Amino acid sequence: MHNVVIIGSGCAGLTAAIYAARANLKPLVIDGHEPGGQLTLTTMVENYPGFPDGILGPELIDNMRKQAERFGAEFKSGTVTEVDLSRRPFKIVAGKETYQAQSLIVAAGASARLLGLPSERHLMGRGVSTCATCDGYFFRGKPIAVVGGGDTAMEEAIFLSRYASKVYLVHRRPEFRASKIMLDRAHANEKIEFVAPAVVEEIIPHTNGHVGSVRLSNPVTKETREIELEGVFVAIGHDPNTAVFRGKLQMDPNGYLVALNGSKTKVPGVFVAGDVQDHRYRQAVTAAGSGCMAAMDAEKFLEEHSD
Ligand code: NDP
Repeated sequence: MHNVVIIGSGCAGLTAAIYAARANLKPLVIDGHEPGGQLTLTTMVENYPGFPDGILGPELIDNMRKQAERFGAEFKSGTVTEVDLSRRPFKIVAGKETYQAQSLIVAAGASARLLGLPSERHLMGRGVSTCATCDGYFFRGKPIAVVGGGDTAMEEAIFLSRYASKVYLVHRRPEFRASKIMLDRAHANEKIEFVAPAVVEEIIPHTNGHVGSVRLSNPVTKETREIELEGVFVAIGHDPNTAVFRGKLQMDPNGYLVALNGSKTKVPGVFVAGDVQDHRYRQAVTAAGSGCMAAMDAEKFLEEHSD
């Protein structure tokens, strides 16, 4: 029997673990299918307060994990496949193990959708990124592409036009899912060139091992063209890792968990933190902040239900 089980070991889950461990709750963290979360896919993080020279994403995560372990958090590898939240103690199944918990913090994160090209994984952090706010600064004066046709792609293209010398907005269809206002803003931006319809066939590395160009093909005419650039921002949406909570916790139409009044859910004793409940800010520091809130809410809940 655990006081607190935390699902997910990204920024939110680890911060919740640090707070819960320091409150002497001996939390158990189930680290999920991508231990460490999205920060492990980045290189330099320059906007996490306290690191004036920046810190590597994997190193930041590693530090947080050590900090949680130092205060007694326990870690188990595995992905949660089933939960029973109908009564307390809650049951959490991960692989062959079943855990029982008096309270639960869901910090399972969201995964950026990827194009599925082998070169994309290989060049992640070497010119390929899924977060404009995190990495835009590294592309000052350089040509880049943003892939996608939704609001995120428009927002990221507009944001990145502050830094980049040129932004190619690459979308697979001539029609755009983005709202008219965002689309109009992107069209009005002189640095943004729309390339649509166009499918990214390949991201080609430069001899220095970083992104050097992209090969695009027109899905109608089958014509291909290569554009030299230094960055590719994949902005084709995120999927929250919430499949196991379907029908058990309240979700919005896109599958994100709904947080009520801080980190609470409609199930007393179940709290949510990080990108699993946030499709808006998606920052390491906001995820960490919400992890702290969830741990404090769980601690208060346990105090009030100490029977
Ligand atoms: P969306 O699902 O709205 O859009 C995803 C885009 O990526 C679509 O254009 C889609 O193309 C394209 N895409 C998906 N898979 C692939 C693929 N494999 N290859 C190439 N292209 C692909 O996601 P967003 O992240 O843009 O937005 C999510 C939600 O957040 C939306 O509701 C949006 O309105 C909202 N949002 C609002 C903002 C605001 O108001 N400021 C800012 C950002 C997001 P296709 O259209 O062909 O399917």
